[in-house]
Amino acid sequence: MRVLETVRELHALADAERAAGRRIALVPTMGALHAGHLALCELARGRADRVWVSIFVNPAQFDDADDLARYPRPLASDLARCRAAGVDAVFAPPVSEIYPPGSQTFVEVTELARDLCGASRPGHFRGVCTVVLKLFTIVGPDLAYFGQKDAQQAIILRKMVDDLNVPVELRVCPTIRESDGLALSSRNQYLNAEERRRAIVLIESLRAARDRIVAGERDGTVIREMLAERIRKTPGAALDYAAVVSAETLQPLERLEGKVLLAVAVRLGPARLIDNLLLQVSDASAEETSL
Ligand code: AMP
Repeated sequence: MRVLETVRELHALADAERAAGRRIALVPTMGALHAGHLALCELARGRADRVWVSIFVNPAQFDDADDLARYPRPLASDLARCRAAGVDAVFAPPVSEIYPPGSQTFVEVTELARDLCGASRPGHFRGVCTVVLKLFTIVGPDLAYFGQKDAQQAIILRKMVDDLNVPVELRVCPTIRESDGLALSSRNQYLNAEERRRAIVLIESLRAARDRIVAGERDGTVIREMLAERIRKTPGAALDYAAVVSAETLQPLERLEGKVLLAVAVRLGPARLIDNLLLQVSDASAEETSL
């Protein structure tokens, strides 16, 4: 497995692989790798000749300096995990390599980034889009893999790729969960035992909302209130948002129809956790779907 730290090396390797006719799949991450990240690598492996992982804790997507400072950076064990997963190359650059002094260009998807996580984390998606587009222009991957766990991010990146005609195929993979349903996240390690037990309120509220929709409820306000109420009733949990929105526009739906995103963000002690479910809804039926 190659480990690269500079844009120059990465660019050169990408050119060589492309010249040899190999298809590259890129899995962008911030490290602290878990089974969710590795599942993306596994799916990438089946569709490309080379699987590359980037590990970069991107300062531009943090709106909170403390959050950035304490974000875990276990590089040695991340590299071991990548090696064990059969990853071909890891790009782990220092910040100065991605944002050299004088950098002043950012990429912004406007409307889709306004609400949900965009409202509580100003500038977050601008940072995500900028770093992901930079990775795309450096590597020129055929495929790029993202998780549904960050559904708004995936929807925004699809829009960016579409709007800017970036020649890459984005694939969005299902959320990998603990056995009790909690979505794997690098931030779960911030939780103490009590908070960890309470953290299942995210998936439990989403599943209860899904079941209610499957049973026939089509009023978006009722579902939104149901999600919010359940989270508010959980001791120690502070609701950031409970959203029932169109998966295309991310705007609230009054009447549920089409592709519906149920999404929640909750603060539990030092951690802010997010989760979501997607449903395909018509008058007659509703079932879980994917992005
Ligand atoms: P992060 O390192 O948190 O920026 O995540 C890197 C990629 O892994 C993003 O595309 C995430 O959506 C994805 N990811 C994070 N957690 C999970 C999970 N539990 N299941 C599937 N994908 C995930």
